[in-house]
Amino acid sequence: MKKAEKVKVYKFGGASIRNAGAVRNMAEIIGQESSPLVIVVSAMGKTTNALEEILEKARNGQSCAEFWERVKNFHVSLVEELFEKEERTVLNMLQELFCAFEKQLESLAPEYDEAYDQLVSFGELFSSAIVAAYLNSLGFLTEWVDARKYVKTDGTFRDGYVNWDMTGQLMRLNLPSVLEEKHVLTQGFIAGDVENHTVTLGREGSDFTAAVFASCLQASEVTIWKDVAGIMNADPKRVAATVKYDELSYREAAEMTFYGASVIHPKTIKPLANKKIPLWVRSFESPEERGTVIKELPEHQELPEAIIFKDRQTLVSFKAKDLSFLHEQALGKLFKLFTRHHIRINLLQNTAISLAVCFDSDQDKVLRMLDGLREEFEIQVIDGLQLVTVKNYRGKNLLRGLKKEDVLLEQKTLTDYQFIIREEMKS
Ligand code: ASP
Ligand code: MG
Repeated sequence: MKKAEKVKVYKFGGASIRNAGAVRNMAEIIGQESSPLVIVVSAMGKTTNALEEILEKARNGQSCAEFWERVKNFHVSLVEELFEKEERTVLNMLQELFCAFEKQLESLAPEYDEAYDQLVSFGELFSSAIVAAYLNSLGFLTEWVDARKYVKTDGTFRDGYVNWDMTGQLMRLNLPSVLEEKHVLTQGFIAGDVENHTVTLGREGSDFTAAVFASCLQASEVTIWKDVAGIMNADPKRVAATVKYDELSYREAAEMTFYGASVIHPKTIKPLANKKIPLWVRSFESPEERGTVIKELPEHQELPEAIIFKDRQTLVSFKAKDLSFLHEQALGKLFKLFTRHHIRINLLQNTAISLAVCFDSDQDKVLRMLDGLREEFEIQVIDGLQLVTVKNYRGKNLLRGLKKEDVLLEQKTLTDYQFIIREEMKS
């Protein structure tokens, strides 16, 4: 690869490497590209969910042997199907990772978030080891790179906050020379703090990893390879007539992901927008199609309405008990609590004496947050909700059968309409 060539970043999620056929398909896509690539992979298939279950069982003192056998067998069979010559070497390498996992399982950190990161991060280690070996076996020179040594975060387990200066320095110091000769193959989702503890970036965080590498290495573009044709204006599983966007502005895409469009992780857009790096969303099933590109575009384009559902929402309302107005001090106190408990608000409404906030359900967090507040506030908690956002709203009733009384809370701006309904109302 020539030095002058710009690096591109390719991200392959779990579905795109869910079995041997999928991994072969991924390699074909890589084979089409002549630029040096940073390839970011997630855990294979549903491995992350399986590892979460193992952690759950282990923490509850239950046996997780059967689950763990399944995870091991899945990876071993995949290797057996994929490799001819190098099979033994790859299996040995995998065996070492399995041993390291078992050691972690025996000495789990008492704190959940930390234990989670030490254990669940192995999904990406398994997948990246296999994929790197496979690409090399095909003659695509590929360097396996440990993302934990480059994506540097603070010590917030399960939600690491990236230290951009350190991350950028490390990447720019070491990776360009590798990329002159090889592709870099690394893990999404996992990172490391300064003391080299493994820290994850939150579920589905691999997209964000791709953006971090792209931003720090000033890549020419990022492609997220998905099982959908691009970004649609609504989830085809929920809404009958959908259209695909050919292009979206960074801003439009950022808002859509914030409201719950799950095609890309919400944190992905900002670092790319800052560096004006285009982000492609393309289908690994039909790589010949163009997909959707997110880039800098003029504001106020005429776009079709987008309908976005965000499930598993909780609505908490606070009313001042003594009917005093919710003044700045009380609001300040509540907002400090939201920050302290990492509650990210998806919708907020206030009246003279009450404040209602809607956020992703998490019972433990809510209990911790409300502890001690009931003396001052009358508090109501409603779980099992969904937040529906209609972007570029044009006034039609888009959800069949939706009645006024189904809507628990609603808000309109010039362009968007948002409302909260119970989850059983799902279309
Ligand atoms: N493997 C992780 C997850 O399933 C990260 C990712 O896929 O983006 O959440
Ligand atoms: Mg995934």
